[in-house]
This record gives sequence, structure tokens and C-alpha cells, in this order.
Amino acid sequence: MIEVKNLVKKYGNHVAIDHLNFTIEKGRIYGFLGPNGAGKSTTMNIMTGYLGATEGEVLIDGHDILKEPEEAKKHIGYLPELPPLYMDMKVWEYLEFAAELKRIPKADRESAVEDAVRMAKLQDVEERLIKNLSKGYRQRVGLAQAVLGFPEIIILDEPTVGLDPKQIIEIRELIRKLAKNHTVILSSHILAEVREVCDYIMIISKGKLVASDTPENLENQMNGDETIEILAKAEPEEMRSILLNMPHIKDFKIEEKPDGTTYSRIESEDGIDIREQIFWTFAEEKCPLLMLQTSKVSLEDIFLELTQKDTVSMVFNQSGEEEKTNAGDL
Ligand code: ADP
Ligand code: MG
Repeated sequence: MIEVKNLVKKYGNHVAIDHLNFTIEKGRIYGFLGPNGAGKSTTMNIMTGYLGATEGEVLIDGHDILKEPEEAKKHIGYLPELPPLYMDMKVWEYLEFAAELKRIPKADRESAVEDAVRMAKLQDVEERLIKNLSKGYRQRVGLAQAVLGFPEIIILDEPTVGLDPKQIIEIRELIRKLAKNHTVILSSHILAEVREVCDYIMIISKGKLVASDTPENLENQMNGDETIEILAKAEPEEMRSILLNMPHIKDFKIEEKPDGTTYSRIESEDGIDIREQIFWTFAEEKCPLLMLQTSKVSLEDIFLELTQKDTVSMVFNQSGEEEKTNAGDL
């Protein structure tokens, strides 16, 4: 349905998108996941025909978005990161105007606006000026604009940024409802959000696609690397020297606990179960093990491994506190 081939976008010397390749199939919810600056918005702007690419192509149902933007745009509804809302318009006025821009035939415009209003639950504020709406409602107006005429593909760039938890839940519900009849692509820098809403995750880091699969498969792929957690009555230095001398260990981290015990998270070589070996070695060293367990690699671990460490705290910040200015406020 959408094919992205060898997409490159450079801003001057800066490579924002670095040879992206992926395919979007009908009827799924896709999540572009990546820290800020990864290239999500740039990709979406190119896929929707709002920005030219430096190299590569985007085909929407076989139409090249760069060569035939009008034809390709008919298939897509887009909520950009900064939705272009007109503050001095009433909600319905704005949506009617947007319907006109989308070339929805005049005779169908009213019903198209009504359907979008109903979908985004805007009935109560239809007559209000956009400037008098809360951020949550404005986001819904942006969403209504994106779904006008119900195009097959709906692309939403960080649809929940800046919303409060209740509004986030509402927007997620709307997205799930949309996904019943549409292909939805959304972006987010929050892992929990993408995992909750999407059935296919594409992790983008520094303009590259570093992983793409269902959340379950992503987790399974990484399970070759077994992680073992232990807690022992030992000094950190003692534990370190025991682990350093043990075979089949790829990596480990040590953490001193306030009660005089030491915790370690150990990565073993692929496919090797080292639990017994750990048990006997610690016994021989007279360091009682208080806990020994394997732990499944989580999506968080994968994400951490695939993207830069310094941006990670942001990814786990679910509160959406980061301030983003809204171009519509101009
Ligand atoms: P994301 O949406 O994942 O946060 P963006 O697509 O907005 O990432 O940005 C990707 C990279 O491209 C960033 O390094 C950003 O600074 C850069 N960038 C984005 N837009 C522009 C622009 N108009 N001019 C120069 N650099 C830009
Ligand atoms: Mg962005």
C-alpha cells in the first residue's frame, strides 16, 4: 500500500533520513518510535507530500508521491506535529475549509464534516472559535481534519503530545476506532504508547530504521540473549572477580545494595544456560546466593540498545511534559 524506498533527506550537510526502506500494509496500526530528532516527522512529511526527499521514492498505491502529489494525497489524511489550525475560525468553519482544500466535492462536504465531527467527538464545540478551545480539543480538531473524507491511510505525528492523561486515553480510543477501517501510522517518542496502540513497531534512530516487527516478535528475536539476575551475600569486588573468572558470560552489571548484599544482571552467551554454573561457583566461593532468576528481554531493553542512551529518559517520560509550541497559536 505504501512503499518507501531508499529514502534520504539531507538538510544541508545534516542527514536527517538515511536510506529508509519499509512497506506499509493495509489495515494495521504502525508506530514510528524514536527519540526526538530521530527523523519521524521528516519521514511523515515526505510520505504525505509536504516535503521533498533528497533521494529515494514513496509510492502510495503505486503513485509516486513526489511526482503525483495530488493523486497520492487523496489516499492520505495527515495530522502534522504542528497542525495548521486557524484560531479565528469556528470548528465547523475550519473543517469545511479543510474539506474544500482536500477537494471533497461540494455536495459531500457537509456530511464529511459531520462524520469527522462525530468521530472526533466535537459536537459540543462545533460553534466555538478554535482559539477558545483547550489543547486536547484542538488536537481533536486536528484529528477531525486528518480523517475528513475518511482516506484509506491516516498518518498522525505525535498525536498525544502535550495532552493530559485523560485526553491521551480519549485520543488512543479514537485511534483504535479509526484502525478498524483504516491503515493508521502514528509516531511517538514514548515506547509505552506505541506498544499499547500499535500492532507493528518501527524503531527509528538517527534517520535509520533499526528494527521493525510486531511487539511480540521484537521481544522474541532478542531472547537468544539470556539475562540472569542474581543477588548474593558478597562484596561488590568479590562478585566482580567471581564473574570475571566464569566462562560463557558476555557482560554483567553490578549494583551494591544498602543491606550488604550485591545484585548483578548477567548476560550469557547465546543459548548457554549458566544458572547451575553460577550456583556452584558462588557456593564454592562461600558467597550465598539469595536470588537467582532468568529475566526476559523487554521491549525497553531492546529500545535502549537500539537508540542512543542520552535520549532515553525522554522516551520513558510518559507525562508529555515536554513543551512543544503549536504553530496554530501564531
Ligand atoms: P523527530 O520527528 O523524530 O523528532 P525530525 O524529523 O523532526 O525528528 O528531525 C530529524 C533531524 O532533522 C533532526 O536532527 C532535526 O534537527 C533535523 N531537522 C528537521 N527539520 C529541519 C529543518 N527544517 N532544517 C534543518 N534541520 C532539520
Ligand atoms: Mg517530530
